[in-house]
Amino acid sequence: MTTVAVDTPGGQYPIHIAPGRLDALAQSIPADATAVALVTNPTIAALYAERAEAALARTGKRVVRIELPDGEAHKDWQTLNLIFDGLLSHRYDRKGVLVALGGGVIGDMCGFAAASYMRGVRFVQVPTTLLAQVDSSVGGKTGINHPLGKNMVGAFHQPVAVEIDTDVLRTLPAREISAGLAEVIKYGLILDAPFFEWCEANAAALRALDPQALTYAIQRSCELKAHVVSQDERESGLRAILNLGHTFGHAIEAGLGYGEWLHGEAVGCGMVQAAELSARVTGFPAADVARVRALVDAIGCPVVSPDLGADRALDLMRVDKKAEGGEIRFVLLPEIGRAVTQRAPEAAVREVLAL
Ligand code: NAD
Ligand code: ZN
Repeated sequence: MTTVAVDTPGGQYPIHIAPGRLDALAQSIPADATAVALVTNPTIAALYAERAEAALARTGKRVVRIELPDGEAHKDWQTLNLIFDGLLSHRYDRKGVLVALGGGVIGDMCGFAAASYMRGVRFVQVPTTLLAQVDSSVGGKTGINHPLGKNMVGAFHQPVAVEIDTDVLRTLPAREISAGLAEVIKYGLILDAPFFEWCEANAAALRALDPQALTYAIQRSCELKAHVVSQDERESGLRAILNLGHTFGHAIEAGLGYGEWLHGEAVGCGMVQAAELSARVTGFPAADVARVRALVDAIGCPVVSPDLGADRALDLMRVDKKAEGGEIRFVLLPEIGRAVTQRAPEAAVREVLAL
């Protein structure tokens, strides 16, 4: 088993990565927990809930399942309330522990419920999508959507442990794997050139879910995200570089209508656009732009943005919450493995949008 430690101002917690971790969940439940609530959705429950419950039953504690409807469309107050309904009707106290079994939607909602139930209870993340394993389960951001904006209501709340079972990715649709791999290569691009090169050499193995390649990619991604988060838990500075490709990607997601492209697909394409913009602003080499495009393509994400119209795309990028005071700040690459945040001339952005 591989373990990555995450340091936060509130203390340290482990990320355990291995095939079959689902059967070892009892190890992450604190000894003084009074009961356990397994929060999941019907899609994941049909595949993994019984195994997770059997593993949790080994703690000898009461285990109650709370199923939420599947999908980003349900990441809202009404669904969040289903968690509180379950916890209160089963009389969970402050020492009850929540377990989030699912993708980023379940993790974000369960985490937010844990942040606010009785002013805060402990929770364990058991991410079941690649995106959740390399990104959303690490770092403590939790929350729900509001009709006027994605992830607009939430809290920072760190889990007590993250349990990553690489085997569960076998039931994930190929498109979701590609989308998760976009966030994986993002870490190489912003922080770790040798890891980017490793991804270039292992793109096919990763898409084929080669266990060794997957374990390493998840481990390195978690290490890099944990490194960033430990230095900047509340996104006052460094953490912003995690948004590489996300400003362009946000315009694609919002412009096409959410759900048309997966988030990771939009980020993959957005990283190609960010590389093109970097070439115009920071002198990022043309040969490296070509490498970014080739790798995004190799992991199975789109490399050409849909034509949203430059004015509309710029408007969409300005309403992205990363745009401070109407000025669009971009995460740009001076070289592979290093990222900076800065404003870019509108003319250069328009050039990239026209590609
Ligand atoms: P998701 O949670 O909607 O999962 C995608 C689909 O796959 C769902 O239908 C789910 O039921 C299904 N699924 C999950 N695991 C499966 C498995 N092993 N086998 C088969 N099907 C499975 O989507 P996601 O991409 O995991 O997460 C997206 C969410 O994450 C967004 O709401 C986003 O805002 C959030 N997010 C949060 C952070 C953070 O830091 N908190 C970071 C990135 C993204
Ligand atoms: Zn993302």
